[in-house]
Amino acid sequence: MAELTLAPGKERSVMRRHPWIFAGSVAKVAGRSRPGDTVEVYNDRGQFMGRAAYSPDSQIRARMWSFDAEESIDHGFFKRRIAACVARRTAHPHLARQDGLRLIHGESDGLPGIIADRFGAVVVLQLTSAGGEKWRDAIVAGLVQATGCLCVYERSDSDVRRLEGLEPRSGILHGELPASVTITENGVKMEVDVVAGHKTGFYLDQRDNRLLTGQLSAGRAVLNCFCYTGGFSLQALAGGASSVLSIDSSGPALATAQRNLTLNPQLDASRAEWWEADVFEALRKLRAEGRSFDLIVLDPPKFAPSAAHAQRAARAYKDINILGFRLLNPGGILMTYSCSGGIGQELFQQIVAGAAVDAGVDARILHRLAAGADHPIGLAVPEGEYLKGLACQIG
Ligand code: SAH
Repeated sequence: MAELTLAPGKERSVMRRHPWIFAGSVAKVAGRSRPGDTVEVYNDRGQFMGRAAYSPDSQIRARMWSFDAEESIDHGFFKRRIAACVARRTAHPHLARQDGLRLIHGESDGLPGIIADRFGAVVVLQLTSAGGEKWRDAIVAGLVQATGCLCVYERSDSDVRRLEGLEPRSGILHGELPASVTITENGVKMEVDVVAGHKTGFYLDQRDNRLLTGQLSAGRAVLNCFCYTGGFSLQALAGGASSVLSIDSSGPALATAQRNLTLNPQLDASRAEWWEADVFEALRKLRAEGRSFDLIVLDPPKFAPSAAHAQRAARAYKDINILGFRLLNPGGILMTYSCSGGIGQELFQQIVAGAAVDAGVDARILHRLAAGADHPIGLAVPEGEYLKGLACQIG
């Protein structure tokens, strides 16, 4: 096995169990190693640090699989790690009965570059690192064994694969894909397009926040911006909203959203209105028309994929939040999110506070919001915390 030696002083983050070894921390790699191969990691004094997946094309040159000298990286390793991920979720009372669930959350679950989401009998797998790519077969076998799923479908079409020198890849890895995939989230049926939907098909990370939105919706006029397939909208209807206006720029997402509404005949479809539009323009139009709302959800796409984009993204976040605050009735609530890794919780709160000042409203935070427990954040990997939100009430 090839050996990767860290430069002097560069073992600190590995000792803190951070899984990433950046190119600048590597002194040398001895022996033959192709992308995804396992390398043994040593510090500059020759002490063993663990085993990692080598990725010569990436700035993240290696990702630690294990810090344990006794643990070899083989089929059994993936079987054990995957079974442990599934068992942690099965043991959690909020997660045990969910049929839409993140099973593997990458670095924070000890499996860097590996994401797996379960939607009923289908598991969608996304591999974003050379190491995951190398062990695809073992990962699929581990998932099938741990879940008994009927199908594993690959959606490795995320842009970040390019940073690892990997081509996009999608398709069936195990079993057969059912004609349609539906989950029940907080009592509401949702169709999941695992083949062409965003990410793995559905934004599972907002499950708890959609539930809270439903609970806050009774009797309220709700505006759901960036609605995708209508997750927040349907929870608002289920919670007794008097009306729900949902906006997204994607026609296919809105078509799925409307199908989702028909899947739930218990909901009053006459209270739902759908707009295919750019949210920035739609919010200005709503203001010009003199419309107002009691509860507004702003769940935009990632404006800042990394810290380098933070400044421009901050402006975009501020703009939609100003527009959102201005459309609220007295006592209204703004539920506002950022899923940008480049915008931390503190900065996001500052942006929202600035937006309230510019909108001329007094607001207070009722709830701090984050992803659910199936998207854990490894204490050693704080950058895994990407989704943050605030529920702010005005006046
Ligand atoms: N809230 C959703 C997830 C939102 S993902 C849920 O709970 O499932 C972000 C959505 O924003 C995507 O559906 C995308 O189509 C949409 N979008 C991106 N830019 C937009 C824009 N400028 N105007 C309107 N929608 C936009």
